[in-house]
Formats: sequence, structure tokens, C-alpha cells
Amino acid sequence: MGLRLIFLGPQGSGKGTQASRLARLMGVPHISTGDMLRQAVADGTELGQKADAIMKAGDLVPDELVVAMVGERLAMDDAVCGDLLDGFPRNVVQAKALDGVLTDPLDVIVQLDVPHEELMSRMLLRAAAEGRADDTEEGISRRLEIYWSETAPLSDYYRESSVVVHVVDGFGEIDEVTGRVALALAVE
Ligand code: ADP
Repeated sequence: MGLRLIFLGPQGSGKGTQASRLARLMGVPHISTGDMLRQAVADGTELGQKADAIMKAGDLVPDELVVAMVGERLAMDDAVCGDLLDGFPRNVVQAKALDGVLTDPLDVIVQLDVPHEELMSRMLLRAAAEGRADDTEEGISRRLEIYWSETAPLSDYYRESSVVVHVVDGFGEIDEVTGRVALALAVE
């Protein structure tokens, strides 16, 4: 049996970077809904066409579209024995949909914590370096606002369902943070 885990953390917390490293360490696929949606936009698929403007504004793509996309991804062979979800679920509706799709229970949640001022400055640096379409100042604040109101409450949702939630300090060097996450998972 593999491991099923979810990475939670605000934009700029280093969630994507840490999720990809951890997935490699644990030998499970890294399933990032942000990456999948950006790919759909780049490929100009029907989903991508629907998601494009919504993502640029920093809003959430409708739950039913994202849930269907993740459902298909989780049904693929490589995800049968475990996976690491990054960017999903993003609200309680998606979390409940995921509960309905999974046949075996979630193992653990990793929540990366980073102070708000550090998040803003990291995001603005990334905006300058990568030029991502949703990395405008409005897009960034919109995404952070949605994170605190809709995504952050998921840690309580999972605690109430008796899923272990590890809160890990995401402030520091990338390697240092990876070490903390690995340690948290090892001592679980
Ligand atoms: P960030 O963490 O910087 O917001 P992501 O790559 O996780 O970046 O997501 C980028 C955008 O993709 C989001 O702002 C949203 O529009 C869309 N998105 C990603 N995951 C989801 C999801 N689970 N539900 C709805 N929209 C999503």
C-alpha cells in the first residue's frame, strides 16, 4: 500500500516545490491541479478554454470541472498505489468529493506555514521572474484571500475526520523545509 497525502499551503509557501520533492522521495505521482490546468490552457482543450480567464483573475475554476479532472487522474495506473495531491482540494466541496472518490482513506495532510509578509514578497519575486499570467498584484491578493477563507479551513475539516495534519514551518531554505517535512512524515 502506498501513501495518499495532501499538501496544503498558501500561494508562495513553497508548496509546489516541496510537493514535487516529497513525491519523488516517496515514489508516488505528484498531482498538481494548477499544473494540470495550466497545461490544459496551453493545449487549448475545452477545459483549458473554460479555465483560462478564471485563472488569470485568481478565482477558482468551478468545482465540478476540477473534481472531474482529478477523478480521471486518480484512476490512472500510476496513482493506484498512492499519490500526493497539490492544489486540491481547495475547499470543503472538493474535499467531500474527494472523500467520495477515494476507496482507501487519506493518510496524512502536510500544511506549510509561512508568515503573510514573506508570502507577499516571495510571490512578487516570482511574478517578476516567471511572468505567470495570474501573478499580478490583484491576482495574488485574490488567491491569498481565497486561500484563507476557503482552503485553510480544510485543516480543521480533516482533523475532525481524524486525518493526521502535520503543520510544518515553511520559512527557511528549500532543503531545510524538505527535511522538516520528511521528518514529520517519518515520525508519524
Ligand atoms: P497557486 O498556489 O499559486 O494559486 P496553483 O498552481 O495551485 O497556484 O493554482 C493556480 C490557479 O489554478 C488557481 O488560482 C485556480 O484558478 C486554479 N486551480 C488550481 N487548483 C484548483 C482547484 N482545486 N480548484 C479550483 N481551481 C483551481
